[in-house]
Amino acid sequence: MAEPRVPGSGGDRTLELPCGTTIDPHEIDLGMREYTCANGDTHAVVTDVHPPSRFFPESLVAVLQETIETDDEFDAFGTPHLMGIVLEEFPEKVATYDGSDDGRVGYAMVWVTEFDARRLHEIIVELVVELMDHAISHAEDDTAVTDFESQMLEFDVSEFVDQYRRQRDFESEHDRAL
Ligand SMILES: [Zn+2]
Repeated sequence: MAEPRVPGSGGDRTLELPCGTTIDPHEIDLGMREYTCANGDTHAVVTDVHPPSRFFPESLVAVLQETIETDDEFDAFGTPHLMGIVLEEFPEKVATYDGSDDGRVGYAMVWVTEFDARRLHEIIVELVVELMDHAISHAEDDTAVTDFESQMLEFDVSEFVDQYRRQRDFESEHDRAL
């Protein structure tokens, strides 16, 4: 087990994972999708550099970018918004590290979750489906609503995630670099 670090002793360049393990955020590199901590848990790792197409196809990313308005520093709907939704839903299961003023990392934000990468993938797809459902229920076109809802009834999140990860070659425990 790693030696516990006293918060503040090494600056605040530490990241406390949801399980309580503290790591040095510099251990996380941009290609990393999962991190196995000293407890032996596997945690999903996402950085703002990962495109949302890590989780679903570019065509859906484009739809989301058109449908969802963002009013923050990021121009279009992207990975930081996805992780924002996850964080809102599971505030205690996501740890974040702001690396924007840390010259030694290549990302501005990293999120490490209690769940492993596959489970996180499912959660993100579920949340996005809910988000789309909500956006579409405000649409004026009733046919669009009905179409979407009937498609969603047949949509199997777990199967989608399996297929997507297979296609994108995320089968191995440690996913490939981008
Ligand atoms: Zn852990």
